[in-house]
Amino acid sequence: MGAGFVSKFRIAAAMRIRVAHLYSDYLNIYADRGNIAVLARRAAWRGHELEVASFSVGDTFRPGDHDLFYVGGGQDREQALVATDLAAKGAALREAVDGGAAVLAVCGGYQLLGRSYRDREGRRLPGVGLFPLETFAGERRMIGDVLLDCSWAGRTLAGFENHAGRTILDDGAEPLGRVVSGFGNDGASGAEGCRVARAVGTYLHGPLLPRNPWFADWVLAQALAHAGGGAPPELAPLPDDLEQDAHEVAARRARERGGRF
Ligand code: GLN
Repeated sequence: MGAGFVSKFRIAAAMRIRVAHLYSDYLNIYADRGNIAVLARRAAWRGHELEVASFSVGDTFRPGDHDLFYVGGGQDREQALVATDLAAKGAALREAVDGGAAVLAVCGGYQLLGRSYRDREGRRLPGVGLFPLETFAGERRMIGDVLLDCSWAGRTLAGFENHAGRTILDDGAEPLGRVVSGFGNDGASGAEGCRVARAVGTYLHGPLLPRNPWFADWVLAQALAHAGGGAPPELAPLPDDLEQDAHEVAARRARERGGRF
């Protein structure tokens, strides 16, 4: 890497990225917390620091205090234990996103950032209403490897899904990607996830970010944009050979097996 190359990317001053990790004690399956570890490492490789604060039941946060909100997945039981508390944080979270904060929400967390989730026992769990969608649990779980086409980024995402929930996006809602292999939001529409401003929800576990470095950097850039008050910065490229191999392996598995009950 020549001096000119390094200096161009070192222009970006070291930033502190303030992360609010919601319900890490309830919503953390399939190593979802591994996504935080990836963000922390990739931020550090660019001279930035990730500062993670946890918020659980009974905790409150001020809308402008965080650059990135993260919430993982969980079983219906855990979702039922946090849903009312999360819904009560809804106004603050929506105000934070309106203010430019980023969000990454996975599976059970993603479902609860919609308007509601009707779980397998028929309980209607209130949601935050950040994403224009509703979810209801179906009989059969949708389990397996997933491959998405994210045409908005000209990239693919590979991960793993395991959910009973069928998520129905409102008309005009922006999905995260189109299902190439797998079930996605509902096993029928071909849509997966949802995007609103710098907030993204997805069913993709794995954890998601180690095998999708471009998306990890996209999330980081959204958070840095909020921290720095400007546009999402271009991050210095990293030698992601291992991550790319992991992506290819996951993508191949999805093509071979994804989307079958
Ligand atoms: N409990 C939810 C469902 O079954 C979410 C599962 C998850 O987070 N993996 O759909």
